[in-house]
Amino acid sequence: MMSAQIYQFLIGSDNFGVLLHDPKTGATASIDAGEEAPILEALETTGWRLTDILVTHHHGDHIAGLAALRSKLGAQVVGAAADKHRIADIDLAVKEGDHFTMGSLEVRVFETPGHTVGHIAFHLQHEKLLFAGDTLFAMGCGRLFEGTPADMHQSLQKLAALPQDTALYCGHEYTLSNGRFALRVDPDNAALKQRMLEVEALRAQNRFTIPSTLSQELATNPFLRAADPAIARTIGLEGQTPLAVFTALRELKNKG
Ligand code: ZN
Ligand code: FE
Repeated sequence: MMSAQIYQFLIGSDNFGVLLHDPKTGATASIDAGEEAPILEALETTGWRLTDILVTHHHGDHIAGLAALRSKLGAQVVGAAADKHRIADIDLAVKEGDHFTMGSLEVRVFETPGHTVGHIAFHLQHEKLLFAGDTLFAMGCGRLFEGTPADMHQSLQKLAALPQDTALYCGHEYTLSNGRFALRVDPDNAALKQRMLEVEALRAQNRFTIPSTLSQELATNPFLRAADPAIARTIGLEGQTPLAVFTALRELKNKG
């Protein structure tokens, strides 16, 4: 039985703000806290009271509003134990496989190194929700600032193994440019072509492309499809391992 409510908004030009609300208890979490003002505005709009902040990683565009919101509203900050040294405001430090509750909602932690070494994702099994931060994007994945391609490949595989009807919320509205890259490396993928038409229509109306579902990502996200022979062939790596293909895809994407 799903009961969580979500309010999604933009922070800056392309960071997603997300409020996760539990109507049973009134508890409300902000997923990351990139900036104070738009989060306060979202709380005002919804009438929800902030009780928790779930931090995916230490980058400024995800934590710049953290200290102010925590001290002003007294919210509990949940973040990676591995990042305690560089996220000053963590109250509850969590690791792979940890469970905690946000109101009456059960949240499970996945360690997803790659974008950063301490990156974590939050999964709500009963609600079928995944908050993947800058690990898994719609039709893309985060840049490798700290981790290795093998780290990121494994992190993505872990998230992709969750139930396919899980809704994916990610850290940025990068879907259109991700999709353009996906079409370059997977040009004959009919599901991808169809999805791009939908994404273009949404963006033309200035609407968000998020959430997607894991089943959509498995069908269209090249970074989850590194084992697909057609993609390997297109980038000249036929017969290579999925990790080799994934590594090459990430490098190609970096070059733009
Ligand atoms: Zn980041
Ligand atoms: Fe980010």
